[in-house]
Amino acid sequence: MSLWNRTTRFFILFVLFLGVGLWLNTGHESKVAAETAVTQADQNNPIPEFTSQGFAITGAQHWAVLMCKFSDVSSEPQTKSFFENMFERTTGPSLHNYWREVSYNNITAITADAHGWFTLPKSRAGYSFSSATAGFAVEDIIQDCINVANPSVNFSLYDAVAVMLNSDSPVAITTLWPLSYPDGAVIQLGALAIPSNKYNLALVAHEMGHAYSLPHSSANGNEYQNPWDVMGIASSYRCSVNADPIYSCLGQHTIAAYKDYLGWIQPAQKYVAPMGTHTITLERLALPQTNNYLMAEINAGGTTYVLEARQRVGYDTKLAGDAVLIHKVDDLVDPTGAPYDDEGAMWKPGETFVDAANEIEVHIDSATATGFVITIKNGSEPQVNATLSANPTTPAANEVVEFQTKLTYVDGNSGTVAATVSVTIPAEMTLVPNSVTTTAGTIISQNPPEISLPTLGETAVIITYQATVNGAITDPTPITVPVAVEWNSQTSNFSQVIIANGTAVYLPLITR
Ligand SMILES: [Zn+2]
Repeated sequence: MSLWNRTTRFFILFVLFLGVGLWLNTGHESKVAAETAVTQADQNNPIPEFTSQGFAITGAQHWAVLMCKFSDVSSEPQTKSFFENMFERTTGPSLHNYWREVSYNNITAITADAHGWFTLPKSRAGYSFSSATAGFAVEDIIQDCINVANPSVNFSLYDAVAVMLNSDSPVAITTLWPLSYPDGAVIQLGALAIPSNKYNLALVAHEMGHAYSLPHSSANGNEYQNPWDVMGIASSYRCSVNADPIYSCLGQHTIAAYKDYLGWIQPAQKYVAPMGTHTITLERLALPQTNNYLMAEINAGGTTYVLEARQRVGYDTKLAGDAVLIHKVDDLVDPTGAPYDDEGAMWKPGETFVDAANEIEVHIDSATATGFVITIKNGSEPQVNATLSANPTTPAANEVVEFQTKLTYVDGNSGTVAATVSVTIPAEMTLVPNSVTTTAGTIISQNPPEISLPTLGETAVIITYQATVNGAITDPTPITVPVAVEWNSQTSNFSQVIIANGTAVYLPLITR
């Protein structure tokens, strides 16, 4: 198992430490009540606020599954092989097969050794654990279970710990609290406590998502209610679809934002929409068959839209339909409100999402065999801007004029574009030999002036050139100097006018 960004991880543990105190003092009751009402699934200590700076979860993970009994409950609900197969079997649904599919094999293997049953030093009441109350002393249970298992378990072999309990609870809990692991074990993932009524794949996958530091996703701002994400609605969602006879409810995939956060979406498969209108193809998030984009991001006035394609294949078979989904990072956008797996949440061919305030439109053009073609309009069009100047602006015959063209390219995303600049020297003037210079790019031709700019961006490129007014011009004569910029298969034309032999008649502020 490898995990990048270890320093950040420890920082987050520290934040969590502060958060738990706050949670115990203030938010505990309402948080638990909300969670119980929605899913009866789990209850987590506060998870760090989601940001795009994630941890890369890759490689093989070896889990220690510790089976622990409360001192007042004698039952041993399952065997070691039940749990080991749940984690690591390669035939049939398992956590190994689930996370490999979800991570595009970035997680290469999940294996587990089950140990137990061990007996905890306290009763259920001693840990505030009951089948009626959503919440228990999770750190105490897991630490005590580690301690009673320690004589027979070498923790240095493992990357993570899951504790299986022998009594029912309305919730399972994952903690990122820094526990004390024996045997010099370095364990960076969160630890799970799973009650006996929660031994199903969807629920344990959800808790493992927390162990990887994922928070809950939401729908229209409602935490837990995102049916398109194992980190939204997990074990209570459409469990009858694609269920396993042994491990019952299977988890759906997690959303694109979380896969990106965990380092599973390669930069080449992540589209960041530039300004303007562009058409791309999104590949489905589960079992992709092409190298098309797995996600598209549109940055919009303080938020980020994440677009993804979902089809009912693999662990996504349980989904309500095939569609493009739109999230504000990890918050599903559903203009028609709950339920969040209806047509309002599913963007299908012919439909258009509009965020008028941010000048954003997403049109679903068509379906492909394994995805969707979409057209994204992001704000105004990108453009090449030019500022032209000349010195002097009212030259006399035979006088040399120095021209300057200052170019920038703006697409709202600090992008760059390849451009070719062509200057036309008019018949009334003669280019001064070798007078063309540029602050960037390559001069292709001195006469006529032509400059190649491979990466024109927001930093101005300044091109200068000199030309002499023909001696035959004796009357005031306007002279137009055109500058053409080719970029993105289009041409932007600029020009400026100087007045040879200009007088106050033409330019009253300038006297010659
Ligand atoms: Zn949870």
